[in-house]
Amino acid sequence: MDISVVIPLYNEEESLPELVAWIKRVMDENNFSYEIIMVDDGSKDRSWQVIKSLKAENEHVTGIRFRRNYGKSAALNVGFTAAEGNVVITMDADLQDSPDEIPELYDRIMNQDADLVSGWKKKRYDPLTKTIPTKLFNSVTRSMSGIDNLHDFNCGLKAYKKDVVKSIEVYGEMHRYIPVLAKWAGFSKIQEQVVQHFPRKYGTTKFGPGRFVKGFLDLMSIFFVGKFAKRPMHFFGPLGVISFLLGFFITIYLIADKLMSIANGTAYRNVTDQPMFFLSLVAIILGTQLFLTGFVAELVARNGSDRNKYHIDQVI
Ligand code: UDP
Ligand code: MG
Repeated sequence: MDISVVIPLYNEEESLPELVAWIKRVMDENNFSYEIIMVDDGSKDRSWQVIKSLKAENEHVTGIRFRRNYGKSAALNVGFTAAEGNVVITMDADLQDSPDEIPELYDRIMNQDADLVSGWKKKRYDPLTKTIPTKLFNSVTRSMSGIDNLHDFNCGLKAYKKDVVKSIEVYGEMHRYIPVLAKWAGFSKIQEQVVQHFPRKYGTTKFGPGRFVKGFLDLMSIFFVGKFAKRPMHFFGPLGVISFLLGFFITIYLIADKLMSIANGTAYRNVTDQPMFFLSLVAIILGTQLFLTGFVAELVARNGSDRNKYHIDQVI
């Protein structure tokens, strides 16, 4: 199969028939063999019924329904697991992305040796409250990840070589950083393609202003996880040891100071009366705590976690 189109969707009933018809037209015109994997991320509207009727008309449609809303990342992940095409294309369901971009995306993967092609909504139809923080987000991600040729990490329209989607796991809110995950998995041939972008035709955005706070926390945690997921002790351990030693040496200093005062017969205060003593106590306790946190984190890391648990309700 040439292409799998993976579409995560949450309450997008109005857009789906137009979207599928448009994708079908592009696929037929280019003689691609394809599948359209529509992942219903726990929609509360009639999206699932619409998917069922689209499937009845078009055998290329596959539907996967989550039991509840697990988020765009989980929806993409399940689509990646199911995809069979040589090229996997992700696209938002709201008709803001254009299926007309598919042939060029496909060509870049198959004939220009790209591992991943990320869309760039150069001319965007979103409000300034969204585009300005997005610019900031993109420049921070660019400099932290070293992927300096991407302008638009979070564009929903992307294409991947099959190997890429089978090698990465997207969970939490990580759909914003898939190129970074791909790079870490060893896929360095990352390209960008300027794509058309349209205003939302039906419904409203599913991501509120909280997305930016979440986005930046994710950025911190993704780099933390990427660096230390396998050996959290390498993060907590040194901090704990430094804090512990600091406290230890302050205590030694205070005791030595007291002994010297006794030996010299000069006035002295009890060690526990010194303000420094409390600092050393805090440092020792903090150091021990950090070290123990490191142990716990190691145990968690070795036993895996349930970050990837989502429940599928139906597959058609
Ligand atoms: N989406 C999803 N699960 C969610 C939120 C969004 O599958 O919990 C889908 C949504 O239906 C759409 C895509 O992710 O197909 C992008 O969402 P949206 O258009 O709301 O984001 P925006 O374009 O405003 O960034
Ligand atoms: Mg949208």
